[in-house]
Amino acid sequence: MARQPRNVSCKPSATAFFTLHHRRFHRIFRLLLIMLVFTLLTFILTALVTGGPGRLLAIFQSAATRPVPNLRLEVGEKHGKIRPLSESLTAELMAQLVQTAAPSTQAAASQAQEDPILKILKKTKYEPVQLTALTAPDQAVYFDMMPDQVRLFFHFNGTTTVADTLEALQKYNPDEDGTCYILLEARWIARNAWQTNRKGLYCFAIHYDRPAVFELSASELDPGELLVIYAQYLTAEDKVTVQSNLPFTPDFAAYGRREMIALVPLSYDLRAGQYNASLTVGEKTETFQITIKDKDFPTQNLIVKDEVAEATRNEASAKEFKDRIRPILDDRDAILSWAGETQMPVPGAKLTTHFGVRRYVNDSPDSYRHTGIDLAIGRGTEIMAVNSGRVIFSEQLTQTGNTILIEHGLGLKSWYYHLDTRQVKVGDVVQKGDVIGTVGSTGFSTGPHLHLNLSVNGTYVNPTTALANPLFREPLE
Ligand SMILES: [Zn+2]
Repeated sequence: MARQPRNVSCKPSATAFFTLHHRRFHRIFRLLLIMLVFTLLTFILTALVTGGPGRLLAIFQSAATRPVPNLRLEVGEKHGKIRPLSESLTAELMAQLVQTAAPSTQAAASQAQEDPILKILKKTKYEPVQLTALTAPDQAVYFDMMPDQVRLFFHFNGTTTVADTLEALQKYNPDEDGTCYILLEARWIARNAWQTNRKGLYCFAIHYDRPAVFELSASELDPGELLVIYAQYLTAEDKVTVQSNLPFTPDFAAYGRREMIALVPLSYDLRAGQYNASLTVGEKTETFQITIKDKDFPTQNLIVKDEVAEATRNEASAKEFKDRIRPILDDRDAILSWAGETQMPVPGAKLTTHFGVRRYVNDSPDSYRHTGIDLAIGRGTEIMAVNSGRVIFSEQLTQTGNTILIEHGLGLKSWYYHLDTRQVKVGDVVQKGDVIGTVGSTGFSTGPHLHLNLSVNGTYVNPTTALANPLFREPLE
């Protein structure tokens, strides 16, 4: 039996049908593949031309991860939203921070130069969000999604301190006012396999401008004593206004690293009673009660040989003293060089006349106040400077004999009368304990002794108090 020829056209087999259609599919698939490769190549080339391989990587990464969150910041009434820094700025800042955070003498040495952190920020024209803190720690920082790890760099006055909790920022309270640059490095660890770890560096600045805090050396004083006002968080730009029934206009000057100081001499002529002083800086006023105690200044009747009294204590000698001394009373140094305990100028001497004594000479009906203390000791005994300072007067005067004045800063002066010899000249800088001359009996004097005055801006204060206790407490560290 003859086999029937296969009729391909009208009865095609399943295999043939498949082969025919497979060819068509293949063609479409190949076209699609070419298109995909072409698109991919264009994409890669574009990425390479526009931003380099890093950008390409970032595009792929951003497809797989969410962006690094912004940092939210709340200081007082103000709110801030801080975006993370660019990768290049981050790298540069971190390198610098690691260097400044290392405990070394570098910070102190580089203080005169421009701050390296600020230099980097300035170079990149990056201006950190700046907030002002009026009170101590009221800052709050938070992220919508809390980071797993944080590192905080507090960059203040050329030095960097490091912390590893966000709470450290809330507690951060620098001991001076000024601008603190804060860099916060946050890390989020990937939770799932398709995510990557994320990190961001955030930079912002907090300008600390806290109200001044005043501290008085005493609230009860004898007349003729020195009142000292210490102030924290007071800057040179701050203006202090005073309202008081005591005669004073405190002039604040730097004291140590983080304080200011003002000297308020209270005259021995002040009446006993209750006084007050209100100190205002900006919108804040602090009021202090000051009690001036009732002090009985003794009376002394001094007998001096008539010829000595007539020669040294007359109208001409009084005028000479006034004319020579008054012009130098305004000569004051802006920084206090007086520190620590007061040096007894003539150790072993006998205190013969106290401070503020009402003195009558040779039964005269008129009295005058003894402006300092008399320390009696043998002629030729060396006299030491009571503290460090600058010699502003060294001359022979009719009334006070050989006279030396030392300015110790802020108008605080020590005066030495009746010297036999003067061993310093105007302009000499003396240290506490340096010999400035020898004891004598020149001028209006009854015998060898040193008359010592202390004054602040022309008002005499009690040298005995200064010899018993340091005039100033140590500056805060
Ligand atoms: Zn005297």
